[in-house]
Amino acid sequence: MTRRQKRRTLLYVGSLSVVLCAGMVIGTAYAQNAERSAREEREAQKLALEAAEGTEDTTAEDTDAEDTEEETEPEDAEEHLPEDWNLILVNKTHPIPDDYEVELKSIGSGHQIDARAYDDFRAMIQASKADGVYIYVTSSYRDRDKQISLYQKKTDSYLRQGYSLEDAKEKAGQVVAVPGTSEHHLGLALDMVSSEYRKLDEKQENTRGFQWLKAHSWEYGFILRYPNGSTDITGIIYEPWHFRYVGKEAAKEIYEQGVTLEEYLGAKPVSEGEAVTYDYVPRPKKKAVAPAQENAVNPEEQTAAPGQESAPNQEEQQAAESNI
Ligand SMILES: [Zn+2]
Repeated sequence: MTRRQKRRTLLYVGSLSVVLCAGMVIGTAYAQNAERSAREEREAQKLALEAAEGTEDTTAEDTDAEDTEEETEPEDAEEHLPEDWNLILVNKTHPIPDDYEVELKSIGSGHQIDARAYDDFRAMIQASKADGVYIYVTSSYRDRDKQISLYQKKTDSYLRQGYSLEDAKEKAGQVVAVPGTSEHHLGLALDMVSSEYRKLDEKQENTRGFQWLKAHSWEYGFILRYPNGSTDITGIIYEPWHFRYVGKEAAKEIYEQGVTLEEYLGAKPVSEGEAVTYDYVPRPKKKAVAPAQENAVNPEEQTAAPGQESAPNQEEQQAAESNI
């Protein structure tokens, strides 16, 4: 190889190396570039994903917050029930205040009603008569002593049948209101029957009296207090004879909304509350102790017990004789 040839070869190799190096550099750069692009893309995707998740998280947090609020509200929130005399709530979980006092007015046949509801009651009865419908009151105001007496008598009757005291009290509470939990104690509740059928049972709903009251009682401030299918809320079976005075404004709204008094007031359903109990300790029984007077309790007080469905029919008939 000549010197020139050597130099040419060297030049050639050198050039080739340069080209190769350049190629490598460019290639590496390109590869790095591509890798960066891919990484950037991945990062962008990740960011987008995070952003999306972030949105979801936020939403989830919001929802959680709302849920938590909704869940805790019923537990934390006190019931803010109105204190208006006509809207006072009395049921198995809302006993009547111990110091409750009411001015009563006679509506005839030994019955009494809160004097403030008297005029509306009279107007209602007159209007029903004008429509040829005759309605009778079988139970009205009952005081605490009468309620206690009814409850104790009923408990005693179960004790005599061999029930334990606890069971006897529970069974009695199903047919006679536990003292302090009867709406009749307010003087704002009336049990009413129609002239052609005077029993306190579900057939009362087919009477002209009930149909009239159902359609018109709200115009005079009264509501059907224990509608069909609302026992969970009211704690009382369907009673198409028990009406409650709440005043014209509330009665109209309750009638139009088709709700119970509990729902209207925003009160907790009775089934979710804690039922009031009555601490009855029966005295040891001696036959002579039973006073004759106690047996003479007016049968209409017995027939009027909320939730009762097994009162003797004869007594109901007698009770229904009370004319207005
Ligand atoms: Zn009643």
